[in-house]
Amino acid sequence: MIVVLSSPSGGGKSTITQGLVAERTDCGYSVSVTTRPPRPGEVDGVAYRFLTATEFERRVQAGDFVEHAEYDGHRYGTLASELVRVTHGGQHVVLDIEVVGARQVRERFPAALLIFVVPPSGAVLAQRLRARATEGDDVIAGRLQRAIDELAAAAEYDFVVVNDEVGSALRAVNAILDAESRRTSRQRDFAIMLDRLRAEVATELVRAVTAH
Ligand code: 5GP
Repeated sequence: MIVVLSSPSGGGKSTITQGLVAERTDCGYSVSVTTRPPRPGEVDGVAYRFLTATEFERRVQAGDFVEHAEYDGHRYGTLASELVRVTHGGQHVVLDIEVVGARQVRERFPAALLIFVVPPSGAVLAQRLRARATEGDDVIAGRLQRAIDELAAAAEYDFVVVNDEVGSALRAVNAILDAESRRTSRQRDFAIMLDRLRAEVATELVRAVTAH
């Protein structure tokens, strides 16, 4: 299953995504590609793979991305090879991406599960943004403006989770994944499994009637 998590900056989706892949062995993180410079402590290939603008564009032209978008003047994208890597390992692949990219994923993979994480209030969002010492007032104002637009896209998602407290938000996302993965339409071998079960029950029936 492809799982997309989006939220406005400061909404908390990155913490939830990290919690999800740390807690669940059935989930793997899709490492995005970006042209933005690494932040202090960011290692290439862990949260992101850092590419030059030229190399990014070359890969766009080569059709390597399942989605890509621009955010704060930098380009971000998900490589098809990354989805293949995680899903071939038998895991759900979790994408932490913004709304333009999420729309592209939905277009290409209609069965993708889209979850939008919202802050409990505007004040909490602003406070979380201010708490990140790395960002100045103009950046914060820009992010709040952007949040207004991004929140408008929440209705396009399958689920919305209020991130009041990260533990309960994480539990909510876990519950969504658990329920969603049990959907009959997502059971790859559903028909085979049902046939087997029916045959087993039929065997039991024969046993029951021949026992007397
Ligand atoms: P940041 O630079 O703060 O890590 O991320 C900025 C925004 O880009 C976040 O909303 C994040 O979810 C989004 N983002 C990260 N990777 C991707 C990606 O591969 N594709 C898209 N469309 N957005 C991404």
